[in-house]
Amino acid sequence: MTARILDGRALAQELRRETELLINDLTVRRGRAPSLGVIQVGQDPASSRYVRTIAKLCQGVGAAFRLEALPADASQDDLLTTIASLNHNPSVDGILIQMPLPPHLDTTGAIFALDHRKDVDGVHPINAGLLAQGRPGIVPNTPAGGMELLRRNEILLRGRRAAVVGRSPIVGRPMAQLLLHADATVTICHSQTVDLAAVLRECDLICVAAGRPNLITAAMVRPGATVIDFGTNVRADGSLVGDVDFAAVVEVAGAITPVPGGTGPITNMMLLKNLIAAAQA
Ligand code: NDP
Repeated sequence: MTARILDGRALAQELRRETELLINDLTVRRGRAPSLGVIQVGQDPASSRYVRTIAKLCQGVGAAFRLEALPADASQDDLLTTIASLNHNPSVDGILIQMPLPPHLDTTGAIFALDHRKDVDGVHPINAGLLAQGRPGIVPNTPAGGMELLRRNEILLRGRRAAVVGRSPIVGRPMAQLLLHADATVTICHSQTVDLAAVLRECDLICVAAGRPNLITAAMVRPGATVIDFGTNVRADGSLVGDVDFAAVVEVAGAITPVPGGTGPITNMMLLKNLIAAAQA
């Protein structure tokens, strides 16, 4: 059996069209476009590439974008002042702090300083708490995109056994909570899980966000299960692979996301969705 490929690029296109319409509508009703403020400290090339991607994306769908670029040696006070100015600026609807911050800065302090209503990354503890309680709030983009992919591909979740491999606050943990809210029976696995294969083989759905190429092998996957791969690993030759041994698992699973072209393209679209929600709040 060969699995159905869950095409993230096609879904991202669909979401982009929907987003564009929503942004147009919002711009007409409010007399200005929803606006994203991005704070970048330093000039890390990967970070700068991502910032350019987001800027282009915003431009493409009619959202406003502003970059607050701080030097690599900016102090915590400089960072907090910049966050406060965006928090209080009524023409900025969403704020993204580009991570990772240089090591001399206090990341937790920066996240706590964000106005949680503008936290389009869903990283503020208030948003994390709302999600943990199953209340409406801003959900981190990557797991929100994973849920959108499952929903639009009509993958049944209610009553199903699901495993999430990874427990980071930005991917694994919120994904587990979203699956729980969708009435799946959820197990969270991590680096200390004993016999990962045995846990995963019991599951109808496996979501992986570990950052370990080939962690998930065909022997770990129950025939017909759905496999969502959030892993993004750059190989020595520059190519991108996920956490799943795709070539082998595609022969066992019922549905699977490829890497690249699976969860990745949807993540940025969910950022725009969060921006729209923040602008409407
Ligand atoms: P973290 O490093 O913060 O978390 C990794 C998690 O995986 C940890 O909980 C860790 O366990 C767990 N883990 C590591 N090794 C194993 C193992 N051998 N067995 C079981 N669990 C393991 O990473 P992130 O959550 O930030 O990112 C995870 C992956 O997702 C990365 O590849 C990242 O690039 C990618 N990513 C993809 C995005 C997308 O849009 N598709 C967006 C964001 C991230 P423990 O807690 O015990 O250490």
